[in-house]
Amino acid sequence: MTDPYYVKGIPEDVASDHFVKASALGGFVKACAVRSTGIVRDAMRYHNTSPSVTAALGRFMTGSLLISENMKNETDTQTTIIKCSGPIGGMTCVCDSSFNCRAYPVNSVIEGDEQINVKGAVGQGTLTVVRDIGLREPYGGQVELKTGGIGEDFTYYLMASEQTPSIVALGVLIEDGTVRHAGGMMVQLMPGYGDKETDYLEKRIHGFPDFTYFLDEGFTPAQILDLFLGDPDIKYLEGAPAAFRCTCSKEKMSSGLITLGSAELLSMAEDKKGIDTECRFCNSKYHFTPEELSKLAVEAR
Ligand SMILES: [Zn+2]
Repeated sequence: MTDPYYVKGIPEDVASDHFVKASALGGFVKACAVRSTGIVRDAMRYHNTSPSVTAALGRFMTGSLLISENMKNETDTQTTIIKCSGPIGGMTCVCDSSFNCRAYPVNSVIEGDEQINVKGAVGQGTLTVVRDIGLREPYGGQVELKTGGIGEDFTYYLMASEQTPSIVALGVLIEDGTVRHAGGMMVQLMPGYGDKETDYLEKRIHGFPDFTYFLDEGFTPAQILDLFLGDPDIKYLEGAPAAFRCTCSKEKMSSGLITLGSAELLSMAEDKKGIDTECRFCNSKYHFTPEELSKLAVEAR
């Protein structure tokens, strides 16, 4: 008896973070789901976020991963940016084509943040998606935030900017200050769909519990898609591990410093202590001595 929930590519330990993709309703529906608990825990640890920021950033990273699913080449990247009026100030997330992502909030801590309130933390603003897939120019789109709840904002982006009717459901369950579960799903109608498929999905989503409820009950992302779609002919297409992974290095930090220009670098080199730089995505620190700064100043000329 083969495992009906076997998906090629997913990690052996299905309790670890991973992505799955399926097709259903005769191919008129594409459905993706991701477990992102470890990713959101890492983000919380790197950025010391207060609860509403953890929830907002967690939903944002999860949604960003889901919409990155169609990138194919190793060097493809997707950058998602929320600019907003709420106290979080904004968020940036970068995904590669292998479900690795890194992200940071503009403000990690909201004062008096006890009750989780994602919409309150985000407020009004814009969602921008930029994909660099080796074309001459990166491409993407921008929409106004619909509600600031993140899931609805991605749904609106996919419809308005990519003309794909979608359901995006994202969840981060925080208990006693720790991330208990995080994950989400994206269900999309494919070209050729009709009222039958639209009506069916509308009925299915009505009253469907939060994604993290099912994770808490021990269901895997593949099983949650099965529960949602209710199609005995669901086909699991592929899966992959997902992770928070930063790609920063001293070398990349040097390239960033060089863009400041020679004069600026020489003036920084006058400080005998040198300078400390910090990666915005993972808070790794890189020290540059006055000698190193002087060398970079030469390169910047
Ligand atoms: Zn980093």
